[in-house]
Amino acid sequence: MQSRWCDEKAAHLEGLEALVYATRTIGQEPQLVLWGGGNSSAKVETADHCGRDIRVLWIKGSGSDMRTITPSQFTPLRLDDLQLLMQREAMSDEEMVAYLGRCVLDPHAPKPSIETLLHAFLPAPHVYHTHADSVCALTDTSDSAKLIRTVYGDDVVLIPYVRPGFRLAKLVAEAYRRRPDTDAAILDKHGLVAWGDTPKEAYLRTIEIVSRAERFIRRAGAGRDRRPDSPLVTPAPAERRCLAALLAPILRGALSRDRRVVLNFDDSRSVLEFVNDPRAQTLSQVGPFTPDHLLHTKAKPLFLRLSPSWDQESLRQIVGQAVERYRRDYVRHFERYRSPGLTMLDPHPRVILVPGVGMFTTGKDRRAARITHDLYRHTMRVIREASAIDTYRSLSPKDLHEFEYWPLENFKLTLLPPEKQLSRRIALVTGAAGGIGRAIAGLLVREGASVILADLDRDRARTLSEELNAQSGEENTVAIAMDVTREAGVVEGFSKAVLAYGGLDILVSNAGIARSAPVDRLTLKDWNETLAVNATGHFLVCREAMQVFKRQGLGGNIVVVASKNALAPGKHFGPYSASKAAQVQLARILALEGAEYGVRVNVVNPDAVFEGSGLWSAELRRARATAYGIPVESIEAYCVSRSLLKVKVLPQDVAEAVLFLASDRSAKTTGAILPVDGGVKEAFPR
Ligand code: NAD
Repeated sequence: MQSRWCDEKAAHLEGLEALVYATRTIGQEPQLVLWGGGNSSAKVETADHCGRDIRVLWIKGSGSDMRTITPSQFTPLRLDDLQLLMQREAMSDEEMVAYLGRCVLDPHAPKPSIETLLHAFLPAPHVYHTHADSVCALTDTSDSAKLIRTVYGDDVVLIPYVRPGFRLAKLVAEAYRRRPDTDAAILDKHGLVAWGDTPKEAYLRTIEIVSRAERFIRRAGAGRDRRPDSPLVTPAPAERRCLAALLAPILRGALSRDRRVVLNFDDSRSVLEFVNDPRAQTLSQVGPFTPDHLLHTKAKPLFLRLSPSWDQESLRQIVGQAVERYRRDYVRHFERYRSPGLTMLDPHPRVILVPGVGMFTTGKDRRAARITHDLYRHTMRVIREASAIDTYRSLSPKDLHEFEYWPLENFKLTLLPPEKQLSRRIALVTGAAGGIGRAIAGLLVREGASVILADLDRDRARTLSEELNAQSGEENTVAIAMDVTREAGVVEGFSKAVLAYGGLDILVSNAGIARSAPVDRLTLKDWNETLAVNATGHFLVCREAMQVFKRQGLGGNIVVVASKNALAPGKHFGPYSASKAAQVQLARILALEGAEYGVRVNVVNPDAVFEGSGLWSAELRRARATAYGIPVESIEAYCVSRSLLKVKVLPQDVAEAVLFLASDRSAKTTGAILPVDGGVKEAFPR
């Protein structure tokens, strides 16, 4: 492992700043820590709020991410008070947490890491704890003590597995006292604790210990990492993706029985190599490589073997039975080890390995599914490496249960922000790059949805996706090129769309064009093109969405952006009004047909939305001005003045209406038409 330490950057840093730098440097290396894993500390002398000299332990706050950590995510504690605890023989978790709370110097600081005492009891000024892949590949074996001694001799001490807390901290401190010349402690089936007199020394020691493990694994594992005798033959990418797209919504439906989940799909080469290995089924059921991953990955993945001659019905059966079996096993495991008063957590798998297809991971949103994905990719590596040098081992089922249900670990869940109204929902918006489409997409993302931005204009959809992802700091949107008039393109687009997040909950059929001319001068081309997008395109996307909804079995929601023209046709807008009327009729038919499957279909009818709209291009403004018999410059004012309330309708207004119909707030409404027209003067039927 290469050192990422930069003397130039670190030279002038001291105390907390130096700790932040060292922590971030560790956090940049995914083979050391991932997503909130690991922790770091520094012991400094400073003055307290009264100006008295005290010794302070700065430690990473619980749950924060080492890669992106900031000073405010560290917690200062009175070190002398913490070290007094070394005289105690035992301490419960509750007592420890209460005691730590009283040692915190800053009332606004985050809760200190649950491994605070481990840091405090070691005398070294700088202590870093990681879950280094290669070190865990040594400890997660059948004879870890022998392997650690072979690799490190007396340079490190191996601490038998004990759940973090007072006892583990004491064990490490006592081991250090017995052997003060050691460089580090390796925690069996858990990770590495390295220390030093300076941040650089502790960091470089971490890298050195990991590098020694890597070298050993390379040498000892070479030739022993037997390529599987008969790896599964993976279908060609196109066929594999087709199967994955068919499978994803079925899987999502089965996994979302209690609460919906978003899926992440990975069929990269290394994932396929792992899942196709005949040993994968057994190895994947051994357990996590460090208990810290349990919160995200659960103890075991679901290993889903599909029959070679699959069809939709057989997939549904296989998936349904496999998920049910997993649930039953989980419940049995929970019942076996449960203590009184414990409530069972979600019994569904978070990692699903499918030979020949790839890996799905789940989460409440894209980010959660990605965290689980990243953790399991490293798990695959550790399993492979440990199996190359010995036999892969994890914690005992009892230890796994106790860690999974450990209140101090589950406390991290309470730090998460509350879920938004569209959290766990996946939406597809057609015409997403247009004026109204982008307002809808942006609002759905802000309300927690994962959104597929489909548009004829791929570049504008991509730019919008980049913008929205940059705002949320997460890939909550993906852009796909889709011409809603092309049947094959729509089918292919939906196939890509369901693989992006695993399924679909909301379709916003919004793509539309407007051609304008009096009927006697209207070209057939304009008529056909308008109907192709607004009516036929709408039909094609609704048909695909309905099929996904049915496969998924979670109901569904279609919101149609039609137009006031559907009910109140505008002069010279023959094809537009006719196609929008067709759109609305189809929507209401779908509302009837979808009801038995829990699919709601509602319509929003906007009017005169100028901002950012391609529908109000110079050419169309001219056409409308002619139709209304007014000068082109006054077209906007004219349209606004038609509004009784003289209220200008903005894309955001349409987006709000779409959000309402897409959300559970309108759970009991289907087949409705909601005008967003600022209140048109003419009393048109609504
Ligand atoms: P817009 O032109 O800004 O956006 C339409 C989007 O649809 C564009 O990004 C375009 O690339 C896309 N699109 C066009 N043809 C497509 C196709 N074949 N496949 C996929 N995407 C395609 O228009 P807007 O004002 O945002 O309109 C959005 C919807 O709102 C339309 O259905 C429109 O009829 C309806 N509407 C708009 C108004 C208004 O005043 N702007 C009023 C009533 C209804």
